[in-house]
Amino acid sequence: TKLLLRNQTAVITGASGGIGGAIAIALGKAGANVVINYYKDEEGAKETQQAIVDAGSKAFILKGDVGKEEDVIELFQKAKETFGAVHILINNAGIQIDEPFLSLSYESWKQVIQTNLSGAFLCAREAAKCFDEQGVDEEVSKASGKIVFISSVHDTIPWSGRVNYATSKGGMKMMMKSIAQELAPSKVRVNSISPGAIKTPINEHEWGNKEGEQKMLAKIPYGRIGEPDDIGGVAAWLVSDQADYITGTTVYVDGGMTLYPSFQEED
Ligand code: NAD
Repeated sequence: TKLLLRNQTAVITGASGGIGGAIAIALGKAGANVVINYYKDEEGAKETQQAIVDAGSKAFILKGDVGKEEDVIELFQKAKETFGAVHILINNAGIQIDEPFLSLSYESWKQVIQTNLSGAFLCAREAAKCFDEQGVDEEVSKASGKIVFISSVHDTIPWSGRVNYATSKGGMKMMMKSIAQELAPSKVRVNSISPGAIKTPINEHEWGNKEGEQKMLAKIPYGRIGEPDDIGGVAAWLVSDQADYITGTTVYVDGGMTLYPSFQEED
């Protein structure tokens, strides 16, 4: 099962570290050629690339803002030029700007929607065009292409103080399902992975101190905070042919965070 993604090319956005980095490495280990998109952290992108090369796969780095149409078009153009085709998109890039609703600035609203929602749309559309040009190659995969949105448990759990973020992920859920419905006849599979609390820079202000860590753990029935590799393994499986009959669904990878842990009876 090691090389389930052999001869496939995967574009991963925001792959210089955190969840995107772990997914890029997991897909590389499964045999995929990886296109590493990054926004700011060039060093991190190089580390991701090195880990993929060490695992015996190819990786190519390209800087770009997923919220800019021209950058996204270039990303897929370069991916095709470099590896000949694109089979997988992981829409991972995302930001969080926390502000109480009464003082939530229009600027913070727009930035989060632009990156998390419009960025994911632009990448999905360009990926879908690649899949459409290529069609199905049974030697490579049963699907013509696969898209995975990295959403969040906050596509279903409301989140005060983060209305912009929760809205972006809720919107992402319906974007995922609508694209899945539209492209299923063309053998494109479209799904989401919704992580719970995973240790990355995006939420270090929460898990980075003892008190914050305890507060987070109280929301996780399984009793541990997630690691980026928890998402990497699931992503590699979800885009493989082992998951060929899955489309239009969301896999919650959250240690039970969506189980309403505040309703747990203490014995
Ligand atoms: P992170 O901050 O380490 O990663 C986000 C990545 O996106 C960074 O590499 C960043 O440079 C990149 N990025 C930001 N804006 C970009 C842009 N305009 N263009 C391209 N790249 C851009 O945090 P993470 O936790 O690894 O987040 C990855 C994804 O997982 C995000 O979509 C986030 O919403 C989601 N998520 C994370 C958690 C968690 O607990 N860490 C939980 C649920 C969902």
